Amino acid sequence: MPYPEEFTGIGVTSIDKWDSPERVTYEAKKFDPHDIDIQIDVCGVCGSDLHTVQGHWRAIRESMVVGHEIIGTVVKIGSECNSDLKIGDRVGVGAQVLSCLSCELCQEGNEPYCAEFVSCYNRPYKDGYVSQGGYASHVRVHEHFVVPIPENIESELAAPLLCGGVTVYSPLKRNGCGPGKNIGIVGIGGLGHMAILFAKAMGAEVWAFSRKSNKRNDSLKLGADHYIATSEVNDWEQSLIHKLDIVLVCASSLEHIDLDKYIKCMKIGGKIISVCVPHRDEKLTLSGFGLMGVHISNSSLGSPQEIRDLLKLVSDNDIKIWVETLPVGVKGVTEALTRLDKGDVRYRFSLIDYDKEFPRE
Ligand SMILES: [Zn+2]
Ligand SMILES: [Zn+2]
Repeated sequence: MPYPEEFTGIGVTSIDKWDSPERVTYEAKKFDPHDIDIQIDVCGVCGSDLHTVQGHWRAIRESMVVGHEIIGTVVKIGSECNSDLKIGDRVGVGAQVLSCLSCELCQEGNEPYCAEFVSCYNRPYKDGYVSQGGYASHVRVHEHFVVPIPENIESELAAPLLCGGVTVYSPLKRNGCGPGKNIGIVGIGGLGHMAILFAKAMGAEVWAFSRKSNKRNDSLKLGADHYIATSEVNDWEQSLIHKLDIVLVCASSLEHIDLDKYIKCMKIGGKIISVCVPHRDEKLTLSGFGLMGVHISNSSLGSPQEIRDLLKLVSDNDIKIWVETLPVGVKGVTEALTRLDKGDVRYRFSLIDYDKEFPRE
């Protein structure tokens, strides 16, 4: 049974075979009158995809299809949808596909923090159906979580904005990143490279931090004003005492981040915010005394409105994130996951050529 009853994707059948994905078919989620069906054209590859198929967070459903940076074309609109979207529109879906939409958090634009959060893949809806992601022919999503894509952003450059991009944009925006602010970005990978671009476009002065100097040239090319190789300079924090307003930690693990040093760099009232989602067993180490006047927190994804705001920032400033493309399919997904596992990507992957792998009717 092809679309609309069944979707086809590139899925992982068990966590010990995370690096041997297969072509799979699976039942589509039941169509709700508020749902929109999207024929997928491009999907970004996010660190969460790898954490999920490697079982770092929770068990996975059978034939797990990940991918939550989806760009595609609207092919069906539910009868009760209120959105302005039309058949044929180019749209995006990020890491969240549902929340209750009525609680206080949802009302104030904090949908990612709602207790009824459903992520794009590997989370059950109320009826028990476990969501499936974007390495697939189609996705079926509540209209609230479908956003239009501005014309001047290419699909492969738009996809990574929908999860990775908004995850770093949201804490920058919410904490006042802008002209006159000193912003530190720690960890220059997929997330960190976007954070440099956005913080600069928002008008801030940017310090890029990485352990070694091998990211220096890229960081400066991306627009960073300063670069610090933290494992190569003794007492690097001494030159930055009480200097930074925000430090955004974009590393994939907090284990090697010496938070005590960053705390010394913070202005009073400054904020250290992590967007890292490490292995579930990882713990923070901090010396409690140093925390005087400094805030530390985690940030979740961004809301649909923040995705729209980020797309506008990128469109208005013609920001080009750095993306490598791979064709979707068993081979391309295997390469994306295994290279991401080694950190071998500059700086995000987007899967393309969906029409070849999933021929259009
Ligand atoms: Zn809610
Ligand atoms: Zn993600």
